[in-house]
Amino acid sequence: MIDADSPHGPAGTTTVRIARWTPGGCVWCGSTDSVEDFRNEPRCGLCREKEAVIDEAKHFIGMYGLRPLGGTLASEDEEEREYRVTARDAREVLNRIRLEKLPDPAAVRKALRPRAAAAGNTPAATTSGAPAKAPTKKSQAGVTGIDAIELQSRVQKLLGQLTSVDEQISALDGVQGLPARARMKDLERQRTTVLSTLAALEKARRRTN
Ligand SMILES: [Zn+2]
Repeated sequence: MIDADSPHGPAGTTTVRIARWTPGGCVWCGSTDSVEDFRNEPRCGLCREKEAVIDEAKHFIGMYGLRPLGGTLASEDEEEREYRVTARDAREVLNRIRLEKLPDPAAVRKALRPRAAAAGNTPAATTSGAPAKAPTKKSQAGVTGIDAIELQSRVQKLLGQLTSVDEQISALDGVQGLPARARMKDLERQRTTVLSTLAALEKARRRTN
């Protein structure tokens, strides 16, 4: 979007390949550039952008029950082809920047733990009425803290998604034709999915509190 006048802009950016993951870095490429949680893992801005492109293509493919991504780009129409091409390009970028050795998930979790505690999500602080059961499980508090943060970030993302879906629905309002109707149906389906996921997360949140 930013590279409006250079269609191949993102692919041309100079990405220095990092050999090893260090705490605070993206678990896929090691970059520390705008790292945020993505599917419960720290990922950098570029990675999240590319993963989102692939997710969108997967969603489209799934919605129409098309052949899975990968392999040939052969498509029934232009739209499908575009999804396949952009997803392939995104995958290429991800493969190019991938760490030579991906970090051990246990090490990543361990590195996240102090951050979770620092964020003020320390269940131990709210001792009022909390049964003092299983004090031997020292790791429990840390894990709960991370889960709460993960939940929070997922909820935030879903709310953003909901806003975007709603905006698209209002934009389509009054638009005639089969593609618009199909798109609307899909948006409504997305909306239902987002809402039920939010409900499930809310339930999970109550469990962790
Ligand atoms: Zn990355």
